[in-house]
Amino acid sequence: MSVSFKLDDHQMALQGLARDFALAEIRPVAAQYDKSGEFPWPVVKKAWEVGLSNLSMPEQYGGGGLSGLDSCIVSEELAFGCAGIAAGISITDLACIPIVLAGDEEQKQRYLGEICSTGKMAALCVTEPEAGSDVSAISTTAKKSGDDYVLSGSKCFITNGSVADYYVVFATTDKSMGQKGLCAFVVPRETQGVTVGKKEDKMGQRASDTSEVVFQDVLVPSANRLGAEGQGFKLIMQTFNRSRPAVASSAVGLSRAAMEYSLEYAKTRSQFGMPIIFNQAIMFMLSDMARDIEASRLLAWKAAWLGDMGLDNAKEAAMAKVTAADAAMRITTDAVQIHGGYGYIKDYPVEKLMRDAKVLQIYEGTSQIQKLLIMRSMLK
Ligand SMILES: Cc1cc2nc3c(=O)[nH]c(=O)nc-3n(C[C@H](O)[C@H](O)[C@H](O)COP(=O)(O)OP(=O)(O)OC[C@H]3O[C@@H](n4cnc5c(N)ncnc54)[C@H](O)[C@@H]3O)c2cc1C
Repeated sequence: MSVSFKLDDHQMALQGLARDFALAEIRPVAAQYDKSGEFPWPVVKKAWEVGLSNLSMPEQYGGGGLSGLDSCIVSEELAFGCAGIAAGISITDLACIPIVLAGDEEQKQRYLGEICSTGKMAALCVTEPEAGSDVSAISTTAKKSGDDYVLSGSKCFITNGSVADYYVVFATTDKSMGQKGLCAFVVPRETQGVTVGKKEDKMGQRASDTSEVVFQDVLVPSANRLGAEGQGFKLIMQTFNRSRPAVASSAVGLSRAAMEYSLEYAKTRSQFGMPIIFNQAIMFMLSDMARDIEASRLLAWKAAWLGDMGLDNAKEAAMAKVTAADAAMRITTDAVQIHGGYGYIKDYPVEKLMRDAKVLQIYEGTSQIQKLLIMRSMLK
């Protein structure tokens, strides 16, 4: 397939649908959910009704069947509305990537089919108190017991943790084997021994749910294991290669919102007898924003496109994630600066954007970890 920067009719329709939804359904309630920290159920349900959920799941199970690139386009628009609410809408799709990649036909029909047809939610459970960047240090155990496994351990910082119906859980069958001991399981929330712990009170993206999930002697049938034993680490990395371009695109959407608010403000705010936009210092901040947004979007699209072509995109996915996340932090910080004192006040939207941007440098692998991954690819 040749490279084109022109979106086709289907992609433009999708972009329009997501942008209209962001402006009509997300933006008007973004500040309210940021303040309350409640989960935005009405918006998430509506997104499912209009077909903006489960977009990358295959069509035969009721998903949108979208390519990685198409998902980036939607992701940017939803985060343009509010990155926290966008996470609530799209994390189920992300959490189910291991099922799409490693699930057998029966598992796909059962889990993806049910999630797509009912709007049920899922969460991806990787991180633990002692295993963050170092995924191979996971210590949630999966002990074989006849035809079942017994899962025990605690997961922290889990997006959708307290609202999910299904958990995709990474655990170790043998901790001494490090990354070679990992494997993944689908665990329904109602299974005995599963409890939702503390819901985190966050700096930003407060509409998204982030909670602890505890598994205590949870009996899981072997039929719920995704792929073979020992394949878990590879599966997490493959999952991140698919999810990072979309996360980068959400950073682009958030950055675009910050740039638009800043441009508008700079044109209307006057000091020293003229709009502040006529100061070169302000112009340069705005032009840097536009440049960073364009560069981040192109990296995200390229990383997604490589994945869609079935090519290795580990390096490009990491490049897109770190570039877009770091750009979002710079852009939102400058947006507050352009707004002066008003930018620091909650009545204006940019202080929320700055808080929302920070976690983009942390989740789905920190910016430092993305740089390590890029370097590792260069050394290959
Ligand atoms: C809002 C939110 C939502 C999240 N959602 C999910 C989710 O849905 N599912 C899930 O499993 N996890 C989730 N996470 C967890 C997230 O992926 C981790 O927080 C992240 O991977 C970092 O792990 P850590 O917090 O333990 O930090 P650590 O790994 O302890 O890192 C601390 C610092 O050290 C740096 N560092 C660590 N190792 C190195 C190294 N080798 N070289 C250089 N620097 C290094 C890091 O970059 C960071 O700056 C979420 C986190 C947050 C805050």
